Amino acid sequence: MLTYEQLPCSIVLLNSEGIITYANTFFCNLLQRKEHDIVGEHVERFLSTTNKFIFHSSFYPQLHMHGHVEEFVLHFERSDGVQIPLMINTKRTLYNGEEHVVCILMSMTKRIEYEQEIRTIAKKLEQVNEEQAQALAKLQQLHAEIEKKQQELVMITNTDKLTNIFNRRYIEHYLAELVEVAGQTEDAFSLCILDIDFFKKVNDTYGHQVGDYVLIEIALLMKQHVGEEGVVARYGGEEFIILLPNIAKEQAVIISNAVNEAVRTYEFDHVQRVTISIGVSTYRAGDTESMLINRADRALYYAKQHGRDRTIHFRDIEHVLHP
Ligand code: GH3
Ligand code: MG
Ligand code: MG
Repeated sequence: MLTYEQLPCSIVLLNSEGIITYANTFFCNLLQRKEHDIVGEHVERFLSTTNKFIFHSSFYPQLHMHGHVEEFVLHFERSDGVQIPLMINTKRTLYNGEEHVVCILMSMTKRIEYEQEIRTIAKKLEQVNEEQAQALAKLQQLHAEIEKKQQELVMITNTDKLTNIFNRRYIEHYLAELVEVAGQTEDAFSLCILDIDFFKKVNDTYGHQVGDYVLIEIALLMKQHVGEEGVVARYGGEEFIILLPNIAKEQAVIISNAVNEAVRTYEFDHVQRVTISIGVSTYRAGDTESMLINRADRALYYAKQHGRDRTIHFRDIEHVLHP
């Protein structure tokens, strides 16, 4: 016949005053105490001060009120002082006319260790997640920096150092794009080539530095007058190009004349008067980039030969030119 002594859990009986009247071997072994050291003692003797308090304030009242307590955790003190967490199921019962409290106690050490382990793992996981989030944020930041650097690089390769407007490389690329689009849509666009009049004289009279200053100021004036309507670039030396997408002959001439006027009336430091000549061409079906540039160049040449400080559109002189 199976007895309490063989059970792999602790069985303890208390009388109504809390005195231990029976403790099985499993319980005695768990507390590393002899049976005679346990039986006859008040259960409190094996509880720490805190646990004594819990025992009186919670465990005992529950037992009195309901006659049973389930899954209550108390720490019992082993003979060497180590605290053993035990889960207690208790029931008040009458036996031979006397009240007994039957306690079944299950060790919780492993469970608590597991819980601790789970908590540690969860914490580590959280840490790993956080590190991953930080690494991701860093990566995104690096990507943004690379993108910014790439944009800066593109800006540098497309910008003229002296005047800070677009350079020849960019404007040629843009012109090729416009020609390609116009080839499909046949939308008109215009190209202006600008050349400073007698610029050699500016350099010779006032020095190269003043010449540079004039180039910078003219670039600014061009930008101000063209605004959103087109793109302004330094084509090389003291020549500039203005590309006017979606702008046909008449409007192109108006804009160019305005640039002529702006330069003519601008008060440059040192240099009293600066003028520019402008040759304009407007896209025709089948045009290539060089055809457009060539026509604008011929118009510019014509402007130079006919008094400078003016805009000439190729179409207006076409009939007087030799083919
Ligand atoms: P034209 O009216 O016929 O154009 O006469 P021009 O004197 O302007 O003649 P040209 O266009 O041949 O002269 C260009 C001059 O521009 C020669 C060169 O010294 C000067 N130049 C070219 N690039 C620069 C530059 O970056 N800075 C300065 N200061 N001068 C430059
Ligand atoms: Mg020139
Ligand atoms: Mg010139």
